Amino acid sequence: MQHSISFLALFFIACSPPVSVGGNGGRQGADAGPIANQDAGEPAPDSGRTPPDPSNRFEPGTVCDCSDECWGSETNPGICVKGICMQEAAGACAESGSRGECDERSRCWSMEGLEGSICWPDCDAYNCEGTCDNDGSCVPTADTSCDSECSDYCGNGGATTDRCDNVTCPEGSLCNPADGQCIESDQGLPAGSPPNCVDEIPALNDCDPNGGANSCHELIQFDPPRAQGYWDYPLNGERENDQYRSWARRDLMLLIRRATAATKCLSEDWEHAGYQDLGLGDMSEQNGDIPGTRENRPGHPAGTHVNGHDMDIAYYQIGQSNNWLRPVCEHVQNGEDQYHCVGQPVTLDVYRTALFIGRLHDSPNLRVIGVDGKIGPLVRSAIVQLCGAGWLRNSACNQLRMAYEETDLQQGWYRFHHHHLHISLSSPG
Ligand SMILES: [Zn+2]
Repeated sequence: MQHSISFLALFFIACSPPVSVGGNGGRQGADAGPIANQDAGEPAPDSGRTPPDPSNRFEPGTVCDCSDECWGSETNPGICVKGICMQEAAGACAESGSRGECDERSRCWSMEGLEGSICWPDCDAYNCEGTCDNDGSCVPTADTSCDSECSDYCGNGGATTDRCDNVTCPEGSLCNPADGQCIESDQGLPAGSPPNCVDEIPALNDCDPNGGANSCHELIQFDPPRAQGYWDYPLNGERENDQYRSWARRDLMLLIRRATAATKCLSEDWEHAGYQDLGLGDMSEQNGDIPGTRENRPGHPAGTHVNGHDMDIAYYQIGQSNNWLRPVCEHVQNGEDQYHCVGQPVTLDVYRTALFIGRLHDSPNLRVIGVDGKIGPLVRSAIVQLCGAGWLRNSACNQLRMAYEETDLQQGWYRFHHHHLHISLSSPG
């Protein structure tokens, strides 16, 4: 899904994450009381329309024109916020995203430029006809709007905000959507703006979390071996007609395809290096075993790479003939392999790797992505840049699920990730 800039601006303002910079991170002050009382059952004085049947009001998350179309309770009256039904909070939000002022299925945020606090419906609790933001709240889109004659939450209300957008940040800097602060733009950030890739990016939800014939849980062989920006080439003893280490859960396969297709389409015009298909490494065996078990040589620690929810994947590289799994840095010291980067990752395509890792966050089931300790900091800052420049617009921008160890903390990421990243999903649905 592609959102327009105007929607993004709205969403960052509307639903600022609980990151607090210089005070309240753009939230209204704690003394902003509940929204001025407005009788949801009464039509606006000059609207001249008949109010809808109170027993037939819309649930939160539904498209609306007027506040009196939206269902609410005495404590949380229904309101129409820029075209989406929500509810007034019972009082000022105790903190961003608090539940105490709302029903159990909504969370409290103030909205910059508007008085008071609003209960934003949870996407997983209500049917959302707007769009889901990074916090899992249902928010208006660029296309939804409402009638300011019968809702107080349609216009921008003369919004004033101390959160940045890319208009307010000075030349040479970007707006970091995670905290609403301007950041310096990195020189390596690819120039230009993201192309429209809606048609090139395959769906993520093309499987059934409840099981059945197209189950998200089912272990399938990665197929076809090469398409959409990836390449499941034979490795670690596989042969072209025996890719026995390439079985993954269907939802994982869909996610990888989506992320490589997105990276390919979005980065096709990047000038620092051309796009090459991304090499896929070990997954699981057909019966869910650790790859190599068939040959009595399981290639991973117990508990990993079982049942198709883990995958090893190459890094995008610069100056190599392909993007197969290989070290992207110096890893030998005093003649001995250290199995981790001991120098800067010189052949790493930082920005493509960052874009790919960012797009892996399209899945709500992403558990973690593990990378080398010298790669992590580079990718992390590249992701912030990509978010600021609009290349990434998902939860990677404010809830990055990437792990790495700059020193050996015994968490399993310090060694053996200088030539690939490891992705792990939790159970679907
Ligand atoms: Zn792995």
